[in-house]
Amino acid sequence: MGWLGLDDTDSLSGGCTTEVFHRLLNELPTGTRVGQPRLIRLWPFAQRRTRGNAALAVELDVDDTASLLDHLDRWWTSNILPLAGSVQPSDISSRKQSPASPGMVWFDEKPDSSFYWAAVRGDVTDLPLPPASRRWGGHGCIGASAAVAWPAMEVTWEAIAWRQSGANGPRSVDESALNIVDGLSEVVFCRDPRRGKQLVAPRGVSPVLFGIRALTLKSASHGCLTLLEAEGTEATAGWRVFETNQASGDHLQGTLPGTVEKVSIDPVRKHVTLTLQGKAVVKVFAEGGPVNALARWLKPGDTIEVRGLRHPDGSLHAEQMRCMDAVTRAVERPQCSACGRRMKSMGANQGVRCPGCKLRTEDAWVDVPSTPPYDGWVEPNVDGRRHLARPLSWSKTP
Ligand SMILES: [Zn+2]
Repeated sequence: MGWLGLDDTDSLSGGCTTEVFHRLLNELPTGTRVGQPRLIRLWPFAQRRTRGNAALAVELDVDDTASLLDHLDRWWTSNILPLAGSVQPSDISSRKQSPASPGMVWFDEKPDSSFYWAAVRGDVTDLPLPPASRRWGGHGCIGASAAVAWPAMEVTWEAIAWRQSGANGPRSVDESALNIVDGLSEVVFCRDPRRGKQLVAPRGVSPVLFGIRALTLKSASHGCLTLLEAEGTEATAGWRVFETNQASGDHLQGTLPGTVEKVSIDPVRKHVTLTLQGKAVVKVFAEGGPVNALARWLKPGDTIEVRGLRHPDGSLHAEQMRCMDAVTRAVERPQCSACGRRMKSMGANQGVRCPGCKLRTEDAWVDVPSTPPYDGWVEPNVDGRRHLARPLSWSKTP
């Protein structure tokens, strides 16, 4: 009985850690009882990261642990070690990738959750790893250990299907079946509700055909099978459901309140840098959609609350924000106290007069109410959110 973790095998030949892990599980010795595989997203700013920054783990139950470890040794040497040092080519994102440094860990006992919390919220490169019973490889041991240590407090599910080996080019996923799956009440994030664009198939080079995210294991499986059985979906190499920390919000801690001191907007890309009183810097990228729109509306003196991740450069990258109180944007003449029409100026220092009933009063201005473009908390649209982001509509906030 023990826990196996794996990370950082994305590579030229293997493609995706989930696919390597799926093969590893399929090739375990007969009699191995396989627990629920888990897929864990970690701190998005990790310097060495695989494309999705996902790590994997599973609980395995065997009568003879020593021979299981011998098997894992052999599997590591023949299937994973050859992936070390490779880089996935021609990913459409321009983000720099590190060469794969696969890591695999075995724990006789599940470690406590402290390493997970550190690895989902910050840089753990300099932290000691929880002491594994056996460890293979390099940098990937960090994510692999974090995946084992995950306490699974907030969970969602993802069913992943992989393309047949050699398949490349455009992915075929049956559109009408996807509409059915999108309509299932416990399946989430299938389509961007604004543009209708599907969100299940990855872009770029990956052996993943699609991933169906859901609130329950059952609905993830059901959605996956609905797509696989549909005529317009290409043949696959297999599929598996993972328990995940996606949409858990585990990466965020606390809310930063502040008063806006300065708003700088990148004229081309629309990214916003907010300087708060006390000099905290909040970055709100264009990809944040509504969060970015709210940030662009802000003026010095407005008070806000913001949640996000602390970037290594010290700035907070906003994921959710709300405007608590807005300073006056404009003033106007008061309404007539007798008939309600808007008063008009009689000229400099001559008071105001109602154009209807001619009532006159002394010179006056009133504030135009400053209504933020969004009432309450805002978040990015579904296609602009991190894997870890918990939708506001799911309540329970960090
Ligand atoms: Zn009047």
